[in-house]
Amino acid sequence: MTDPLVSVAVPVGVDRAFTYRLPPEVGPAPPGCRVLVPFGRRAVVGVVRAADPAEAPPDRIKAVLGVLDAPRSPALGRDALELAEWMSDYYLAPVGEVVRAMLPGLLTRADARVACLTPEGRAAVEAHRVGPLLAGDVAGTVDLGRRPHLARLVEAVAAGPAAGVPVPRLLRMKPALPRPLALIAEACEAGLLTLAWAEERAARTELHVRRTDYLRGADVDEAELQRAVGRSKQRRALLDYLEGVASGEGPVDEDGWIDLATVRGPFPRARQLLGPLVEAGLVVTEERARRLDPFALSAPEPSQAQAPTEDQARALQELGAALDTGTFRAALLEGITGSGKTEVYLQLIAQARAGGGGAIVLVPEIALTPQLAGRFRARFGEEVAVLHSGLTPAGRYDAWHQIRTGARPIVIGARSAIFAPVPDLRVVVVDEEHDPSFKQEDGVRYHARDVALVRAKAAGAVVVLGSATPSLESFHNASRGRYLHLHLRTRPTPRPLPTVEVLPLAVHRPDPRSLLSARLKEALRETVAAGEQAILFLNRRGFATGMQCDTCGAFVQCPDCSGASMTYHLGRNRLLCHLCGYVASVPERCPSCSEGAMVHGGAGTERVEVALSAQLPGIRVLRLDRDSARGQGLARTLERFRRREADVLVGTQMLSKGHDFPGVTLVGVLRGDHGLGLPDPRAAERTFALLTQVAGRAGRGDRPGRVLIQAFAVHHPAIEFARAHDYRGFARRELEQRDAANNPPYGHLALVRVQGPDERAVQQRAELLAEGLRARADEPVQVLGPVPAPIARLNRKVRWQVLLRSRDRPALRALLRRLRPALGPGPGRTQAMVDVDPQNLL
Ligand code: ADP
Ligand code: ZN
Repeated sequence: MTDPLVSVAVPVGVDRAFTYRLPPEVGPAPPGCRVLVPFGRRAVVGVVRAADPAEAPPDRIKAVLGVLDAPRSPALGRDALELAEWMSDYYLAPVGEVVRAMLPGLLTRADARVACLTPEGRAAVEAHRVGPLLAGDVAGTVDLGRRPHLARLVEAVAAGPAAGVPVPRLLRMKPALPRPLALIAEACEAGLLTLAWAEERAARTELHVRRTDYLRGADVDEAELQRAVGRSKQRRALLDYLEGVASGEGPVDEDGWIDLATVRGPFPRARQLLGPLVEAGLVVTEERARRLDPFALSAPEPSQAQAPTEDQARALQELGAALDTGTFRAALLEGITGSGKTEVYLQLIAQARAGGGGAIVLVPEIALTPQLAGRFRARFGEEVAVLHSGLTPAGRYDAWHQIRTGARPIVIGARSAIFAPVPDLRVVVVDEEHDPSFKQEDGVRYHARDVALVRAKAAGAVVVLGSATPSLESFHNASRGRYLHLHLRTRPTPRPLPTVEVLPLAVHRPDPRSLLSARLKEALRETVAAGEQAILFLNRRGFATGMQCDTCGAFVQCPDCSGASMTYHLGRNRLLCHLCGYVASVPERCPSCSEGAMVHGGAGTERVEVALSAQLPGIRVLRLDRDSARGQGLARTLERFRRREADVLVGTQMLSKGHDFPGVTLVGVLRGDHGLGLPDPRAAERTFALLTQVAGRAGRGDRPGRVLIQAFAVHHPAIEFARAHDYRGFARRELEQRDAANNPPYGHLALVRVQGPDERAVQQRAELLAEGLRARADEPVQVLGPVPAPIARLNRKVRWQVLLRSRDRPALRALLRRLRPALGPGPGRTQAMVDVDPQNLL
């Protein structure tokens, strides 16, 4: 008899189906199960798409090596698998790549797993060893006496090192276990074993500290304590700190332990300080499991639902009714910053929870919005899983597991959180739905908002798209009645909108170093003198935008990327290309005319920071951008500013997101029109949204705010409507233009890009593709190009592109399907790919 065949999604970036044999000894592998399969000379982890693939298999079919999931709990549920197939089809991406994007990284890695014995496993082994007569007395354990193979497996793990036995070794046991992977999966399901990733285990524990009861409490003899502690003031402070955290003032776990990393915050020399304390018996240390979720420590005060305002009540009533029907419904929740959108999300999710359902909340960048996660924690406590970029692979896997078992039915995270395996998904929120970060820009180029809609539709869930400045796609859909259109028109706390003043740079000449006009500088002085705070916003980073020749005017260009001036970074005294990361030293003479000296052109945040400190002595300045925000820097800078340790925060667009700084009454935008010059149909929309969001940072406390926008292009609609706080006005005007130009949301776009090291090969392939597309395109599809991309070189690769545009989505999709086989690697080491619904045409 021949073995059954399965089609497997193999994560190798090759866009075709892969078929394997399923020999009986590996056991059943229903769709969604992970399987270990040979690929070339490697073994890789794939996911079964379907039994009996439709495609005719090649002659020699390789066999599946093992099944990694228990057949009853495949890694991808049926819904998830359907979503993967949809994404693969819609975004023209290899299904294996999609599957890899959906699962936590550890689940798709073939190697490095170790099996460890659980306490239950140990009990079962001990019961087994004492023999069949007594085994019946040990309650609650699996009777290994009846399962000889299982017994041999668990015994082998019990006999191995405590850190676990590598799975490959179990696969090679002599005599061989039948269906070893299935057996391991079963042992895990029965709670006898756990699987862990070897290299993660080391990182999973860390030193924890706890104050003991010795010499503790009110009647402690102070002299005795001093004898034990010694004379070090710091050591005494550390002991008091540990006492404080233990009595509920700080981040300890249930048993009173605090991890050393946390202690190092206030006490960088904690390790040295601890020694004598441990010796005196005042403190104990222990290697304990690392907290995988740093948010778990910040248990905020529980919060109660607020009595909704009239607008909120109407929104909640409509959303609640949609939720009750148990069918898919999408809603646009339009409301300015501070209008109470988050409160609406919270109450809607509470309703879903009351019915036992789960929710996903997508946010642009979790690290930028710690308060938002905090508010969900405060309302829903341990039910919330926060998926953020700081999670270790093991932490990500653990969170995934907790979500899947229903232990954490509410998930907050950035775009990939849309794949979280929330069991009974009832609500999906996309907060700041207009934000470009929801689009994945490499690999599988999906848009998380659109995937959210597709997933919610399949699940019969309610989607809420929230924004002060909705994307024109969503606004258009709401206007046409495809989405519920909900509007929060006022702020629940009566706070006036900030006044916005536009300063034409042609009149208000800016200071060449700080970029501040006299007017803005004066406003800054007034604000600080009044004991208030200010934010200065510049959508660039680095000390200067570029280095310009003082004779011929040329900028220093990146040798690998065209059209990119390199940026000067003061801290490193280096030039950096922001597109490819190329670093160079500063040339003494202009490379172009070899005469002039190089001077700084425009300015970046770093230079503004330095100039401000020099020009306004006494004012405390902090800076926030990608450079200063690495690692812990971001949270710390935000926290310091919130605690008013600085008067002015200078930053990039990172500052536009949902931070809440009650002390800020002035926001200055140094170049409001920067970004309008980009060759992108969404340039105006982005600029309008950015200005509106930035302005929303002013006057969030009890004092009104004001916003000063410096710009050359002061009459551009993006700036004029932003000044008037008029989203709808802007949207209507912009929609007219989009309509006339067949741009989204009226026309649909797909960007075909060819890149490679060789200009000629790239151009030839782009021309060939464009020719083929023209020949096949039906009437309603426009084929534009080929042209060199606006960023014509990136990472030493030449880039050309062809833009497809059509008001007829089915026609465009049909053309894309026919294009699909022509994508991928090609002659002259070129690569061709397509970006469906591109958000970025650079
Ligand atoms: P958004 O998400 O639109 O920016 P939030 O939900 O954060 O708005 O609300 C802004 C502020 O108003 C928050 O401090 C919130 O606690 C408060 N708030 C929201 N809804 C109400 C309400 N119904 N009654 C009183 N205060 C509210
Ligand atoms: Zn470069």
